[in-house]
Amino acid sequence: MTDTKGILIYCETQEAGLTPITIEQLGAGWKLATQLGEEVLAVLVGSGIDEKSAHECIYYGADKVYVIDREPLESYSPELYSKALETLIGRIKPSVVLFGQTTVGRDLAPRLAYKLNTGVTLDCVDLTIDPSSRLMLQTKPVYGGKAYGVYVCESKPQIVTIRPKSFPPMEKNESRKGEIIYFDLEMDFPSTRAKVVSREKEKAGIQLEAAKVVICAGRGVARDDLDLLRELANLFNGALGCTRPVCDDGRLPPQHQIGLTGKIVNPDLYIGIAVSGATQHLAGIMGSKLIVAVNKDPDAPIFRVAHYGIVGDYREIVPVIIKKCKELKAKM
Ligand SMILES: Cc1cc2nc3c(=O)[nH]c(=O)nc-3n(C[C@H](O)[C@H](O)[C@H](O)COP(=O)(O)OP(=O)(O)OC[C@H]3O[C@@H](n4cnc5c(N)ncnc54)[C@H](O)[C@@H]3O)c2cc1C
Repeated sequence: MTDTKGILIYCETQEAGLTPITIEQLGAGWKLATQLGEEVLAVLVGSGIDEKSAHECIYYGADKVYVIDREPLESYSPELYSKALETLIGRIKPSVVLFGQTTVGRDLAPRLAYKLNTGVTLDCVDLTIDPSSRLMLQTKPVYGGKAYGVYVCESKPQIVTIRPKSFPPMEKNESRKGEIIYFDLEMDFPSTRAKVVSREKEKAGIQLEAAKVVICAGRGVARDDLDLLRELANLFNGALGCTRPVCDDGRLPPQHQIGLTGKIVNPDLYIGIAVSGATQHLAGIMGSKLIVAVNKDPDAPIFRVAHYGIVGDYREIVPVIIKKCKELKAKM
């Protein structure tokens, strides 16, 4: 694609408006747009889209918001959404397209890159413009978070997903002005291979990705002890996550999984309980500010990345931590 211009943000919404990662994407997009002297473009795809969300995009940094509102787009469909975006991108020709590293973003970004015959870099933690080439330098963790790689895509648009909590969001400014464009999507909606047949609402509680404290259950935690870990998480007003084996055997549902094939967390405090520290798990926790590990094996690899380690049986240690937390809270 040639003659490209503008940073396009794929926006996701929830009941309360834009998702936190969308606001971070708008912040990242604004930084890139400033470096390039281009505009921040946002796109909302769905059916019955609330105009409030389009205004929010402007308050958080978008200059133009494209709304693609059609009934067949009510539920996320990889085929229809990627086709709709391909059509929009073909028309407006952005130089960069930013997705969040979310379930939808991870699915859409590579599909779109394939359709547009360009590259894609997933899970970026930094983006900046190289002043000489005006191409985007895309930094992402590699080798399970042990190093960072910087990538450049010479074809346009340059497509990336960004990791939650890696980019500061823009300050909300309700006096910002922008343009809302209802995009006239001239396309047939083919029958799709996958359909949403039912929806299950995630149980209320703190979302893992947004939690300031994450308690993580490893394979060594018995099913009956998960309530103990929940109690610890609640004391910190935090969230309970787990390693893959804990999901695989049904102790916790898949949305609790942290790691390469699960969620990426960036809390202030991560406490891994009976977690060995496999690279695929560490890939999801290395953004944590403080890592604490409880493991009965002193040679467990997690101790190599933990800031504090407690060697011992969690069944003895966790009740002590809970007791101490309660005492401290009572004094507050
Ligand atoms: C392609 C691929 C993708 C993957 N993606 C992910 C992913 O996204 N997330 C993920 O987590 N894994 C993922 N895995 C799996 C990963 O390789 C590990 O198998 C997994 O992380 C191990 O989980 P664990 O630490 O809970 O279990 P284990 O490695 O079995 O460790 C259990 C630990 O518990 C300790 N322990 C046992 N009992 C106690 C006790 N009473 N008190 C204290 N400590 C105790 C043991 O000493 C041990 O260190 C992936 C694997 C592959 C191949």
